[in-house]
Amino acid sequence: MPSNPKRLLEDLKSLLGRNKVIEDEAIVRLYSREPSGLESPALAVVFPETTGDVSRLAKYAYSHDLRLFPQGSSTSLSGSAVPLDEGVVVTFEHMNRVREISVVDSITVVEPGVRIDELNLELAGKGYMFPVDPASSAVATVGGAINSGAGGMRSAKYGTMRDWVLGLEIVLPDEHGSVLRLGCRTLKCRQGYDLVRLIVGSEGTLAMVTEAVLKIAPLPEQVVVALAFYPELRDVAEAVVAVKEQGVQPYIMEFMDDRTVEAAAKTVEVSVEASGHMFLVGVDVNREAAERTASWLSRTLSSAGATRLYVAGTVNEAEERGFFTLRRSLLPAQMRVAREITGSPRTLVYIGDIAVPPSKLVDAVEELRSLEAKYGLFTMIGGHIGDGNLHPAVGLDPRNKEQARRVEEWYLEVMELALKLGGTISSEHGIGLLKREGLRREFQHLGSEKALELMKGLKRLFDPKGVLNPGKVV
Ligand SMILES: Cc1cc2nc3c(=O)[nH]c(=O)nc-3n(C[C@H](O)[C@H](O)[C@H](O)COP(=O)(O)OP(=O)(O)OC[C@H]3O[C@@H](n4cnc5c(N)ncnc54)[C@H](O)[C@@H]3O)c2cc1C
Repeated sequence: MPSNPKRLLEDLKSLLGRNKVIEDEAIVRLYSREPSGLESPALAVVFPETTGDVSRLAKYAYSHDLRLFPQGSSTSLSGSAVPLDEGVVVTFEHMNRVREISVVDSITVVEPGVRIDELNLELAGKGYMFPVDPASSAVATVGGAINSGAGGMRSAKYGTMRDWVLGLEIVLPDEHGSVLRLGCRTLKCRQGYDLVRLIVGSEGTLAMVTEAVLKIAPLPEQVVVALAFYPELRDVAEAVVAVKEQGVQPYIMEFMDDRTVEAAAKTVEVSVEASGHMFLVGVDVNREAAERTASWLSRTLSSAGATRLYVAGTVNEAEERGFFTLRRSLLPAQMRVAREITGSPRTLVYIGDIAVPPSKLVDAVEELRSLEAKYGLFTMIGGHIGDGNLHPAVGLDPRNKEQARRVEEWYLEVMELALKLGGTISSEHGIGLLKREGLRREFQHLGSEKALELMKGLKRLFDPKGVLNPGKVV
């Protein structure tokens, strides 16, 4: 870290232009936190507008040991986007153009600061979509989603970012601020080791992404959406199995437990009676099959024990009736309850991000509930249940040291539970600050401790001075 911050800020202003550097404390603070409540102040925020700006910044950081913290909209829930040391936040919000959409080539070329919903608005005009849709898609950026390896509600069918990134332009934090173009704009592409996939999910620790070539998919003709509520957690897991056993691969399969549903129903307005454990399923169909699918879904969900069931023939109808609003309010609802319980405005929410094989969901939800008694914590669970991705959450007041210790132990045991059931500690939110020990345990569980050494070696290769998002992942 340069010893003279004033001088550093002057340097950055002459490097990028005065209007691209903000040091006002109140504004900088807005870029220094995540919705989970994690925060740590940065020195300044810089707003590059071109790859050239990013390259100059990277070169300067290398030669002056300046810490850089790349950021999209800072909605990460793992601590991956908060600054740690006295460094500078690099926000990509001014690099936010959709440069190209080619339906013939099935691609779009975008700058990293494009928000996912904005991209999808443009694509919808051409009958296409970018399928990775984190529940934060109204603000989440493509650069942030690439670097956190994000998934979303449609992941049950379409997978995560690693399945949709074809090419990247990246800037390395080296003596030249080197700009590299990786991957291709064709669907098939072999370039030796797959560096594109290495960057996806690297959480801004290896390089800064300045452009991406993404695959796009046609919008489905119609999606039938069912919203069901169940009295027992076990019933939901069984409903998932019942749908999957029939060989259907739904477009959406989401879940919230009864506590989260209750809190969500108080947080947002919906036109259905929401109580019990929620299961939201969407199946994409052609128009002719819509009615048949709706009655098949109703039968299957009712047989699994649904006490309330609502079916919408289209996504628009489901949106109007608030089916998705309920699911999207998962985090705000969890935050609200956590604050009520701790009584502290500084409440942190620890959100797990485990995945288990869907066949193990029943065991996972039951064991999660039993951990609650062991640690004396009020747990709320939701997630993308179609791919076995669960987000159990608890709140804590960081001033209460004894509670903080219990939450940290709980968080580790949740990750251990996923490993025991053949799953993983982290599905889509990234490792960030919160899951570094979990990552170590996952490799230990697999007898592959050396993988961490390889990762540390890769970090040194890409970022020899350790200036890019230090303290995260490895
Ligand atoms: C309400 C809510 C719901 C959410 N739902 C989901 C969900 O359904 N699925 C899911 O996967 N996640 C979800 N998340 C987590 C998060 O929103 C997503 O991972 C999202 O993709 C992050 O986008 P962002 O622009 O906010 O990135 P940020 O949080 O700003 O950054 C994420 C990571 O990417 C790095 N980064 C950002 N831009 C660049 C760049 N250009 N170059 C290099 N590194 C960069 C950052 O350093 C950080 O490590 C949710 C979060 C919230 C608050």
